[in-house]
Amino acid sequence: MTNTTAPWTDEQVAALNRYQDAGEMHPFTCGNLHADSRSPVLVATRDGWRCPNPTCDYQQDWAHEFMLTPAA
Ligand SMILES: [Zn+2]
Repeated sequence: MTNTTAPWTDEQVAALNRYQDAGEMHPFTCGNLHADSRSPVLVATRDGWRCPNPTCDYQQDWAHEFMLTPAA
């Protein structure tokens, strides 16, 4: 499977976050364990994935290339 790495454009970030929300596939999640019950689903930014937990510094800089293409 082909992967893509950050940085991404605004359009690509939007497409990545749509995949995270769509529920068609398992979303990328944070690799760290959290003491609270906050969602571990990663949020795409132009510089890569970030954990939604402000106290967590987990980052991921790659995604599956097909995720950049809005679902047909
Ligand atoms: Zn995290």
